[in-house]
Amino acid sequence: MTTELTSPQLAAREAELLASIPHQLLIGGRWTDADGQAAFDVRDPATGAVIATIADASPADGVHALDAAVAAQHAWAATAPRTRGEILRRTWELLQERTEEAALLMTLEMGKPLAEARGEVAYGGEFLRWFAEEAVRITGRFGTNPEGTGRMLVAQRPVGPCYFITPWNFPLAMATRKIAPALAAGCTAVIKPAELTPLTTLFLAGLLREAGLPDGVLNVVTTTQAGPVSDAILADPRLRKLSFTGSTPVGVKLLKSAADNVLRTSMELGGNAPFLVFEDADLDAAVDGAIAAKFRNIGQACTAANRFLVHESVADEFAQRLTARVTALRVGRGTESGVTIGPLIDGRAVAKVGALVDDAVAGGAELLTGGHVIDRPGTFFEPTVLTGVSVDSAIFRDEIFGPVVTIVPFSDEADAVTKANSTQYGLVSYAYTQDLRRGQRLIESLDTGMMGLNVGVVSNAAAPFGGVKHSGIGREGGAEGIHEYLETKYVLTPDPFQS
Ligand code: NAD
Repeated sequence: MTTELTSPQLAAREAELLASIPHQLLIGGRWTDADGQAAFDVRDPATGAVIATIADASPADGVHALDAAVAAQHAWAATAPRTRGEILRRTWELLQERTEEAALLMTLEMGKPLAEARGEVAYGGEFLRWFAEEAVRITGRFGTNPEGTGRMLVAQRPVGPCYFITPWNFPLAMATRKIAPALAAGCTAVIKPAELTPLTTLFLAGLLREAGLPDGVLNVVTTTQAGPVSDAILADPRLRKLSFTGSTPVGVKLLKSAADNVLRTSMELGGNAPFLVFEDADLDAAVDGAIAAKFRNIGQACTAANRFLVHESVADEFAQRLTARVTALRVGRGTESGVTIGPLIDGRAVAKVGALVDDAVAGGAELLTGGHVIDRPGTFFEPTVLTGVSVDSAIFRDEIFGPVVTIVPFSDEADAVTKANSTQYGLVSYAYTQDLRRGQRLIESLDTGMMGLNVGVVSNAAAPFGGVKHSGIGREGGAEGIHEYLETKYVLTPDPFQS
């Protein structure tokens, strides 16, 4: 039987959890102060209150962290794959045991409702378990060359020390999606979490250490100087790989720096997902899918449906049913029971979403519900539905990253596909249709790295996650995920039977 906790009890539980999180950098297996003991505040976006003050790394700290990753690289690559896998598996087990702590921590620093945070613990944790299993499946091949004069050996070797930069929207999953395959492959790493949500990464690093990860294999630098710290690490010739998840403009800048050092790169960038609803769709399923694809994580997901393209014969019906569901969403602090929509990450996000909505309305869009900043502490925006949105408006072109549905009608399949593909982004698309042949055509004609056909959420540790065009390079998860951290080495030997 669970007993409802009182507010003071909840506050005490939050304070106890926050006090247990390491507040320093993790370098070479030691929790270390930043240069000059610099520190910065982390805030709860639901209240604006400071919840932690943690080390603020300098570029020199970043290089020290890389020193530790470089020092640990040889021994970690030589560690038995089974041992590497077992450390990941043990970390997954610890995370399961501590699901409530991890979930509450994410809700406190990022704002997502607790139920969603628990979902992220399950999803993000799964990368640890998946790559624990993949660690022992790194294979090569052996054969005779076509001339018959030699033997060709092809082996997979770890890339070497890696640098990870992660965003604030999925503080756990974006870290495990990089750490787990890299460690499984035999790479060491430095990770720099987003300054808005560094606590979950520090918590995760603590679990990895508890699970037996050797010193220096994973190093954590938290910092407000993302650019200078990253520049120093990226310029270091000992670094071999950059894996970044974040916005496309920052990704483009980092790709240029990575080019100077000829680094392997994995880039998980922005999205502008189309969500297509055809006249033959099951509208109830489409509305369910729309709620999941749009409002999960308060609309702050790279996979969030950004543009709802609906056949003109069902556009009004779809808008009406969706609006009824959206008005029933409950906004509040993610720790309150029944809340489905938390705050946006910060004031800048609220201002951006508000400006996009105002611009769309000025351009002729109709507001069916929401559209405004909520007047309460924290950074909340009303769940919003807009119809009659112009395809030339900024809200149609840009990644909204907020709880706003934009509905645009289309006339036929060709019009739908043209509108869906009219973007530089290509991460994910969603389509609802009961026509199998149409579904097959859409699989081939939508220019995205992933697609949900009659489903609104596609993420899975067993799937190759990633985009095309300006949405990125490379894949995270699935059998493909570990190859981002492996280099192919080819060896030729003479035919042993010829003298
Ligand atoms: P962001 O690009 O502002 O920041 C991402 C990370 O980059 C943060 O850690 C930040 O500190 C760091 N950063 C910022 N400027 C930098 C610089 N000059 N040099 C080095 N690092 C720098 O993105 P965000 O606001 O944190 O996250 C939202 C974005 O991430 C959205 O565009 C979203 O679509 C994208 N995203 C993509 C995926 C994916 O898998 N494709 C997943 C989640 C989020």
